[in-house]
Amino acid sequence: MIYVISGPSGCGKSTLIRRVLAGLGGARFSVSHTTRERRKSEVEGKDYYFVSQDRFLRLVEKHSFVEWAVVHGAYYGTSRQELAKGGNRDVILDIDVQGAAQVRKKIRTAVFIFVLPPSFRELRKRIEGRGLDRAADIRRRLATARKEVRSYSSFDYIVVNDDLETAAAELESILRCRRARLAVRKKSIGPILKSFRSKG
Ligand code: ADP
Ligand code: 5GP
Repeated sequence: MIYVISGPSGCGKSTLIRRVLAGLGGARFSVSHTTRERRKSEVEGKDYYFVSQDRFLRLVEKHSFVEWAVVHGAYYGTSRQELAKGGNRDVILDIDVQGAAQVRKKIRTAVFIFVLPPSFRELRKRIEGRGLDRAADIRRRLATARKEVRSYSSFDYIVVNDDLETAAAELESILRCRRARLAVRKKSIGPILKSFRSKG
């Protein structure tokens, strides 16, 4: 199953995804390509594939991306190759609302989750507190946030990230719940059903 997680910059998407991946087996993070500068804390190939604009645009020409967009002045995209790595595991995409709209058109079965901070004021506090972005970049991210939240109604689930533990538990429960759906469980319950058909 593919899970698309969107929400304004600084609302806590990466933090929530890290928590869920740590507590839940059988899921992985889809590593995006970006032309944004690498932050000191970020690791190539783990957080992002950091590429030049030329390289990114060559990949666009080769139709290497399932979706891509310009977000806060940089290019970001999910490669087909990255998505195909999943095997049977759930895949979590942390992408913006433009990318989510592209995935919605292409992958009907994907699940869309929008993360909201408890307020705009708290969002500002979190972005500033994170201490990773320059002042001009923070202003741009906050301005974009005002537009992004208008897209909330095209998502399947809304997670309000007020208390981190509660929000992470809610996000995890969405994944767990989807795993119990008939179409998904059917793939793994064969041996149980078979045991009911045999004697003993
Ligand atoms: P995003 O990935 O959406 O840009 P981050 O995960 O980087 O956001 O979170 C932005 C900042 O907010 C980080 O410093 C993070 O530790 C903090 N944060 C995340 N969730 C919460 C929360 N529920 N309460 C308080 N701070 C939070
Ligand atoms: P950041 O620069 O803070 O890591 O991410 C900025 C924004 O880009 C976030 O909204 C994040 O969800 C989005 N983003 C990250 N990867 C992708 C991607 O592959 N495609 C799209 N469309 N957006 C992405």
